[in-house]
Amino acid sequence: MTDQTYQSSGLVPSPVAAKALRAKAVYGEPIAVADGIVVLMADNAKDYTGPGTNTYLVGDDALWVIDPGPDDAEHIDAVVAAVNGRPVEGILVTHNHLDHSPAATPLKKRLDAPVYGYGGLPEELLHGSDEDIDPNFVPDRALMGGEVIGSGRWRLSVLHTPGHFPNHLCYHLAAQDIVFSGDHVMGWSTTVIVPPLGNLANYLDSLELIAQVGPVRLMPSHGDPVDNAVSRIDEIRSHRMMRQQQVEDMLHRGITDPVVIVEELYEGLTPRLIEAARGCVAAHIELYQQSRSQAERFDGGKQAQTRPHNLG
Ligand SMILES: [Zn+2]
Repeated sequence: MTDQTYQSSGLVPSPVAAKALRAKAVYGEPIAVADGIVVLMADNAKDYTGPGTNTYLVGDDALWVIDPGPDDAEHIDAVVAAVNGRPVEGILVTHNHLDHSPAATPLKKRLDAPVYGYGGLPEELLHGSDEDIDPNFVPDRALMGGEVIGSGRWRLSVLHTPGHFPNHLCYHLAAQDIVFSGDHVMGWSTTVIVPPLGNLANYLDSLELIAQVGPVRLMPSHGDPVDNAVSRIDEIRSHRMMRQQQVEDMLHRGITDPVVIVEELYEGLTPRLIEAARGCVAAHIELYQQSRSQAERFDGGKQAQTRPHNLG
């Protein structure tokens, strides 16, 4: 399979697709994507995050800023200019990967607005991970799943959606049937799930949570808005389950090394993404092991225990 095939699938990250998206991207300019919603894209394209981070401004007389983005002076200036002196109720962070949360602190000062998010991660979870994490992220107000913030047309429900990252939140704008989906569901490819911070069982549960909310549109932090939210969620779930079956088939054949599994399943994958693919295979193996240990507990006549979650 070539990169070109990956590009057309919209399911596997591809440097070719990321490059094409970057070529048509508009950085630093607010673009209207829905009633009272504009997006500004940061110029921080990466192979598996697409053209750059989307920062959304949501509201009319007063605004919410969703996903401040990287600590990039041009992006921060562009966000402040687009706010144009209007009051900002809060800066909402989906999670503290380096391409999402670092601009929260400078924007907080310049916009005089509090920062909201699930919270930072316990030290013990950060050890053993080489992900690009913003270690300084601490929200002024810690949010939990199920909370509601804002009011009227701009009322947002908070969805805790671990899987890509333990403290990941999505935000549901019910008045327009929109979910701001962060990195959980992206517009241009599937997301990266790498243990120990990524967890596929949690990811599938969180996907189901969004499906139950039943949005019409998704506004991801990378890629264009998704107009067919339900079918995109179905497509991603099917892709993950297909990959799970492929990995389990190999495990049953006695092939357990993620390096070998990636070589067979991701033939032709560009070398820059091999490490991420190995991480995803590790997540599939972890899900298989969790399912087996649950089944064994059940076979033992004991009550099956709740699936382990990374956080909360
Ligand atoms: Zn992320």
